Amino acid sequence: MKILVTGGAGFIGSHLCERLLADGAGVICLDNLYTGSRRSVARLKGRRFKFVKADVTRLPAMKVDRIFHLACPASPVHYQAEPIKTTLTSVVGTHRCLKLAAKNKARILFTSTSEVYGDPEVHPQREDYRGCVNPMGVRSCYDEGKRCAESLCGDFERRGLAEVRVARIFNTYGPRMAPDDGRVVSNFIIQALAGRPLTVYGDGSQTRSFCFVSDMVEGLVRLMDSPEFDGPVNLGNPAEFAVMELAEMVLRLTGSRSKIVRKPLPQDDPCRRRPDISKARRLLGWEPKVSLEEGLRETIEYFSSLG
Ligand code: UDP
Repeated sequence: MKILVTGGAGFIGSHLCERLLADGAGVICLDNLYTGSRRSVARLKGRRFKFVKADVTRLPAMKVDRIFHLACPASPVHYQAEPIKTTLTSVVGTHRCLKLAAKNKARILFTSTSEVYGDPEVHPQREDYRGCVNPMGVRSCYDEGKRCAESLCGDFERRGLAEVRVARIFNTYGPRMAPDDGRVVSNFIIQALAGRPLTVYGDGSQTRSFCFVSDMVEGLVRLMDSPEFDGPVNLGNPAEFAVMELAEMVLRLTGSRSKIVRKPLPQDDPCRRRPDISKARRLLGWEPKVSLEEGLRETIEYFSSLG
């Protein structure tokens, strides 16, 4: 089986490429290296692995059996740095991938996001919750881009043009996150290891639910293999933590004496987020296995090894 992974040199993408190769597939890893890096796929060599440097909005023609479409900057710092490009990457990039899937009669899995729920009024978030997104806010390039891409996936599926799967990915962390990712987990660990203050935005009472990357990859593979389209599926770890709790846990696990400093809360920062994963449990027999403490230990080890 020949599998295209767009965004394959990104954080989740590189772990996914590694898993697919281990499962015996041939992998084409496509990335424009905007947030991905060659370093993250440097170990993936051999006949069954090919790296293509290209932007997903200019996806070249190729023969593939399946497509995992992950390409898009996902950290608020990066997707807001080039917001117009973010929207176009989601919308045009997904359209290109869907057309390639249609041409090849290949199944495509699109990675959507918990951001489609915006700042949710319903908690935890089930897939049938329609979300509370500010369409003109600073996060909308990502949120609305992904929502529009989901809409394209729905239409390709309804019209029988492509066989589609849609994952809504919640906050994911682990080894090989880019040090400049700007995400809360990587920021806190890097700050703690360097003895610099941990930057808590707002009062730290906002919550997130953090999924370790190996659990996420397992969920994506199972969703791709699932026998039929049944709408979007939440993938994430339902254990919910306040950002301040995360800061304290990172300080404890690193043994760091860093202080905690407060910074302004970014605009439209969701107050809370937690996936309802009943659908993934039912359809895929999937649930996360790695606790936040275990996953943080591995991630801390990774960042320590970078020196
Ligand atoms: N955050 C923080 N300090 C940081 C980076 C992020 O307190 O150095 C907060 C951010 O405001 C948000 C949460 O941590 O409430 C998760 O942010 P992240 O950028 O990791 O992902 P998001 O879920 O917002 O996309």
